Amino acid sequence: MPLADVQAKIDAACDTAGRQPQDVELIAVSKVQPNDRVVAILDEGHRICGENKVQEAAGKWPDFRTRYKGIKLHLIGPLQTNKARQAMELADAIHTLDRPKLAKTLARLAQEQGRCPDLFVQVNTGEEPQKSGILPMEADAFIAEVRALDLPLQGLMCIPPVDEEPSLHFALLAKVAERNGLTGLSMGMSGDFERAIALGATHIRVGSAIFGERVYS
Ligand SMILES: *Cc1c(COP(=O)(O)O)cnc(C)c1O
Repeated sequence: MPLADVQAKIDAACDTAGRQPQDVELIAVSKVQPNDRVVAILDEGHRICGENKVQEAAGKWPDFRTRYKGIKLHLIGPLQTNKARQAMELADAIHTLDRPKLAKTLARLAQEQGRCPDLFVQVNTGEEPQKSGILPMEADAFIAEVRALDLPLQGLMCIPPVDEEPSLHFALLAKVAERNGLTGLSMGMSGDFERAIALGATHIRVGSAIFGERVYS
């Protein structure tokens, strides 16, 4: 689906929800996609992209940044502490802050580098053992801890369980954000971004609907 069609669906979802399209940032998730597909949307003028692996991001985005001005790169995948330094150098935003050790490492690196990407705390709304993210019942305390470290916390992120109605998870995430005074909500992917917009998403992460299916080799 061309980018313009996805944008039209975003506009329609905003209209239904009584929201402004400029309040919903479209992160084009380019992981695993061939470079020519990424170049196509950069040529169309899109600048906000997402990757979920630090190594893959490091392999392609420094080069894209030299060729296109104004790129904003969001890291949306699980982040190992030993990749934090590289992640901070590469990214404009990190959506997957999910544990105290990582928060402390990011705080130390932010001091050292004098800058820090925008941060989102990932909440494991479905309490799935294999998924990263802080548990909902631990979220308030962790958010307070992140704030005490003076980190630039923008909001919360979630990835709902594949076999459940995502709206329940989006609503839960919005509730945790609201009671903590956070305005950023990173939620919604190709299959459910319209429902996420209805529940207040400020950042949607859309891959296959823009680029086509990912082909893993
Ligand atoms: C891959 C990925 C997406 C995009 O998924 P699509 O279904 O292709 O839109 C969104 N969020 C995260 C965290 C991802 O890893």
